[in-house]
Amino acid sequence: MKSFYIDYPQEKIGHNQHLYRCAKCKIPTTVIFGLLENHAKSCEYRLKQHKWVQLEAKLKPHKERFDESFTDEVD
Ligand SMILES: [Zn+2]
Repeated sequence: MKSFYIDYPQEKIGHNQHLYRCAKCKIPTTVIFGLLENHAKSCEYRLKQHKWVQLEAKLKPHKERFDESFTDEVD
């Protein structure tokens, strides 16, 4: 699972050349710090990524269960 999310759409804050924020929830990148939970709860990007995280979590146990049953047969 990814621990840092830095591929969200960004835009400049005002005229500052070095400050950026999430284009979806307008929270500065210095606050988000690459963490999904630091985006606004209604952030389009966060919701989209969260779906993938849930999907990964759903797929993983199935694979582990398969591996376990395989090991039992060998024993
Ligand atoms: Zn965001």
